[in-house]
Amino acid sequence: MEKIRLGISTCLLGENVRFDGGHKLDPFLTGTLGRYVEYVPVCPEVEGGFGVPRESFLLVGAPENPRLVTTRTQVDHTERMVQWTRKRVQDLEKEDRCGYIFKGGSPSSGMERVKVYGQNDVPAKIGVGMFARAFMEPFPLPPVEEE
Ligand code: SF4
Repeated sequence: MEKIRLGISTCLLGENVRFDGGHKLDPFLTGTLGRYVEYVPVCPEVEGGFGVPRESFLLVGAPENPRLVTTRTQVDHTERMVQWTRKRVQDLEKEDRCGYIFKGGSPSSGMERVKVYGQNDVPAKIGVGMFARAFMEPFPLPPVEEE
């Protein structure tokens, strides 16, 4: 039986790609659902060259067009992530994917309700991760979900 191909945030498969060197293994996705699908893992932060471990990121500014900034040192990596994302999304377009499973809450991979920090450093859960947004905008039809 041919398996369904799904994109997925790499950390959900148990790979140690998170900023702190850990993972977010989801046993349902790897076990139960994993029997029926072939995953195409993507970690925007590691593939974008930020390494493990790394300083964590957050989204700041306008929710519809936020900046990707490191949490402690406040370095703005938006352009770097935009450049990488553009190329990766083009590559993914060539692969035969039927959908995507995103890691919720991530400033890179979160699909919805990601914290965006505005004035006074008050976060609002109304953002979309930078990579998730770049993926969903040109591909509005494939189903997407968070873990
Ligand atoms: S949430 Fe996305 S960027 Fe963060 S570790 Fe997982 S795959 Fe990588």
